Amino acid sequence: MAAVMRFVKRSCFGSRMGLQCLSLSRSAAVAKLVQDGASAGKTLPERVKIVEVGPRDGLQNEKTVVPSEVKIHLIDMLSEAGLSVIEATSFVSPKWVPQMADQVEVMMGIHRRPGVSYPVLTPNLKGFLAAVNAGAAEVAIFGAASELFSKKNINCSVDESLQRFEVVTKAAKEAGVPVRGYVSCVLGCPYEGKVSPDKVAQVAKRLYSMGCYEISLGDTIGVGTPGGMTEMLQAVSREVPVNALAVHCHDTYGQALANILIALQMGISVVDSSVAGLGGCPYAQGASGNVATEDVVYMLHGLGIQTVRILLFPLFTGLPLSLPPSVQWNLANCYEIVFYFLCIDSIIVISVYFDTKRFDL
Ligand SMILES: [Zn+2]
Repeated sequence: MAAVMRFVKRSCFGSRMGLQCLSLSRSAAVAKLVQDGASAGKTLPERVKIVEVGPRDGLQNEKTVVPSEVKIHLIDMLSEAGLSVIEATSFVSPKWVPQMADQVEVMMGIHRRPGVSYPVLTPNLKGFLAAVNAGAAEVAIFGAASELFSKKNINCSVDESLQRFEVVTKAAKEAGVPVRGYVSCVLGCPYEGKVSPDKVAQVAKRLYSMGCYEISLGDTIGVGTPGGMTEMLQAVSREVPVNALAVHCHDTYGQALANILIALQMGISVVDSSVAGLGGCPYAQGASGNVATEDVVYMLHGLGIQTVRILLFPLFTGLPLSLPPSVQWNLANCYEIVFYFLCIDSIIVISVYFDTKRFDL
């Protein structure tokens, strides 16, 4: 199971020594990118918004159905941890994504914290209406820059999908519901291979012009490199204002943080990520998980960029996530934290690694 693989992979580095070894090669590459960016006069945004996609994008890839109460608990923990945008679920047909069949229950069950938004995916008008009925105050639509991926993922051509989305954005506008747009496969497709940056730009432009306030550009299978990311963002930013763009990177080849850094240097200040790197793509074999939220937060702190102050979870080590928290929150203290998720027979176990080092915030 993907989550187990991830856990095994990450637990190999469970010792502090291992974590440092892992960080060294990546941080050297990232440091060089920062240096190159600085010498080229590129500036970084002062603040970055993180869109947490773990409960939807992360869990939808798990083969074992995760109980609703566990999802609700996870979302509540993420909002308690300080994340301001948490993609909660998806109003797609359970036939296509059985893992999200409990979308109404999840939306009804979460504790909505003031100031936190909980967008949900809505593939069509039916999904949109169901989402609004369940209390969704923000929705997201998802297109692709690859025809074959669109066919496999949402069973229609790119153009047909955009027509469907127009119906959704129109209804959303009337209802005063903000819409976020996703473009998948912006740096490569499992079926078509290389994807043209111009095609990505066209799809992003259509989504933006139909009213999406933000367009998230997804490297769905994690094949992008900083070179491809630069080329693609140059094309897209000619059509859509950079302050309306976000990046959504998967880490198949360990390129996610480097790709995110390129995006930051190009003026993008919204990053999608998934706690513990949960995720993958059910329609893209071999796709690795999303970039891990804690890794992104760690990098942003290192760059001196304001973001989530820090993720702070109660100590759950070895306990099923579905148990009520028995440890007091202490949001005043900020510690570096690494999360490990393990999914066995529908019980997610989260173990939390605390480092004693404090961030200077
Ligand atoms: Zn993803």
